[in-house]
Amino acid sequence: MSESSSSCEALLISATARFDSDTPRLDAELLMVNATGWSRTSLRAWPERVLDDRQLVQFAAQVDQRARGHPIAHILGEQGFWSLPLRVNDATLIPRPDTESLVEAALEFALPAAARVLDLGTGTGAIALALASERPAWQIMACDAVPAAVALAQVNAELLALPVEVCTSHWFDGLSPQTFDLIISNPPYVRAGDYHLGQGDVRFEPESALVAGEDGLDDLRLIVGQAPEWLAGGGWLVVEHGFDQALAVRGLFSAAGFENIRTQKDYGGQDRLTLAQRPAPAGENFTGESDAQ
Ligand code: GLN
Repeated sequence: MSESSSSCEALLISATARFDSDTPRLDAELLMVNATGWSRTSLRAWPERVLDDRQLVQFAAQVDQRARGHPIAHILGEQGFWSLPLRVNDATLIPRPDTESLVEAALEFALPAAARVLDLGTGTGAIALALASERPAWQIMACDAVPAAVALAQVNAELLALPVEVCTSHWFDGLSPQTFDLIISNPPYVRAGDYHLGQGDVRFEPESALVAGEDGLDDLRLIVGQAPEWLAGGGWLVVEHGFDQALAVRGLFSAAGFENIRTQKDYGGQDRLTLAQRPAPAGENFTGESDAQ
């Protein structure tokens, strides 16, 4: 290979042209940064810089993987969520920016200082760890049914030194009886056979984290239906769902006896999450103190 064809910029241009991605140039730059340790800014400042053999071999191998469709997050083994660098692998969903809107919503609640919080179907641990980073005094439990996801969430909790208790449970099935002030979940909600499953990064994510029956609501039905038994009076349930599922999900919440039911949008302006409160027993407010009337 001649010097000029292995210049940083020439390699970036040819990699970019091979990627079927919404962000091909960014993808190429991220792989270049990973292979070289150079910053993205320096790729632009010194486009003529030449990679050494080791860097070139790694870059070429990872460009091939990306050209075959593998998600950048899987190739790098890492994805940012909230302010946190999270390890990712193919055992679970790659955390999405849209899911950060669940974290934002949860931080708005007036919960007790040592709130008991449950993240159901935690995957990488993203939601639980983001909450722990913002509210270190909360007692946060994060569960997943998939052993490899539980192991991954545990690794992320340890690497970030955040106090989250990770456990194995299929939704509520494996939990000992207790109640929470907040239950939060990004469950699978894609319809079986949805065309979207054949596109982009989703093809490399496990069906167990994405698909929930014919209407995509199988897991949401179960979670919303059972959550009242696991919530303290006045406790909140927050769930992510598809952009066209808000009405159906609000119906599930009202059938389960929730109040203050609200849907909120993600950063792209799509309906993305619904939240609601378990009614507090008469005469009690959220923290269990008597109402001064
Ligand atoms: N929003 C994701 C997607 O469209 C699905 C995430 C999920 O099922 N929890 O790929």
